Amino acid sequence: MIYQGIAISNRFPSGRKSVEIEIGLSDLVFKFDEERIRFSLAQTEISIGGASDRLIYFKHPNYPDISFYTTDKKILKDPNLHYHDHAKSGVKQVNKKRAINWTIWLSIIGFFVAVILCIFIFRKVMVKGVANQVPQSWEREIGDKLFLQVKAEYKLIEDSALIAELTQTLQPLVNAVGDTSFHFKFYIANNPTMNAFAMPGGNVVIHSGIIQKAASWEELMGVLAHELSHCTQRHHVRSIISNLGIYVVLSSFVGDASAIMGTLAQASGSLTSLKTSREYETESDETGWEYLLKAKINPEGMIGMFKKLQKEYPEDKDTEELTSLVSSHPAIGERIELLSKKKNELKNQEFITFKNSFDTFKKRLKTDLDKD
Ligand SMILES: [Zn+2]
Repeated sequence: MIYQGIAISNRFPSGRKSVEIEIGLSDLVFKFDEERIRFSLAQTEISIGGASDRLIYFKHPNYPDISFYTTDKKILKDPNLHYHDHAKSGVKQVNKKRAINWTIWLSIIGFFVAVILCIFIFRKVMVKGVANQVPQSWEREIGDKLFLQVKAEYKLIEDSALIAELTQTLQPLVNAVGDTSFHFKFYIANNPTMNAFAMPGGNVVIHSGIIQKAASWEELMGVLAHELSHCTQRHHVRSIISNLGIYVVLSSFVGDASAIMGTLAQASGSLTSLKTSREYETESDETGWEYLLKAKINPEGMIGMFKKLQKEYPEDKDTEELTSLVSSHPAIGERIELLSKKKNELKNQEFITFKNSFDTFKKRLKTDLDKD
């Protein structure tokens, strides 16, 4: 076989020259110009070198002023090189070194892939960690400012007795949250769509539409438990943080969150409309379910309400009006399935009954709406 290579020697004006390398049974022949140099295989030294050890060198003790190399790796498989013990052991050494190089490269690549994977996997944990460093008082302040806009946009029902009854009835659920740093305040908006949304800090706006479609306190509390969870799980702040670059998240995670507060303040406009995501919706359903159980409120109401939402917003209907309660991912059907599994796992549990009639509450709301 003939291979292309380079001769290196001081005898050439440029120090190098192209050569053809032919491997015979007992020697290597290097041909350039009219010259032929023969290295006996029994004495040829084979080694690798150059950048990334890409070059395969041939040297001979009888020719100290010249050496040859090729980048053609096929040469190492040439049968004639494996015929002589000396050449064979040279090839073996070279192959060993190349294998070690590969291992080193693979380890380096593996290390970086692992680091990237870790960052990807722990990103959610880091986002949560950074969000927890943002003081709730700050979130409340922003939330209260944003609420002024909501007040201007929505017709809020001004029936203090009705709101007081609602707040009092919801008390077991609020108590189940257990964290008193959230100052939950409930408002009813005159709006026929089936929605409710919790704002950063704890203001919760319930559309009259969802109260009117609910059949019981349990159903209404099912969706409110979901909404309160968006607050307690800091989804508003988390959604903004997770949209920031990984470098910002990483540096805030290992450093302090004060650097991130300025960015958050700028982005706070998007805090009103919480971007629904699979992670947050599922988390809110699950946390909400736990709150209901803790409050001894029958959580089946949550499933009942979701079934009504599913009817109102069928999955095959391409609705633009995705709300804080209905998201495209996960589809509401999937969420109902997940909660139904939880329901089947419930042991004989006792639940509280509400003394005040939900129907009477709805009637009083209707009177207020008619007056509006
Ligand atoms: Zn939601």
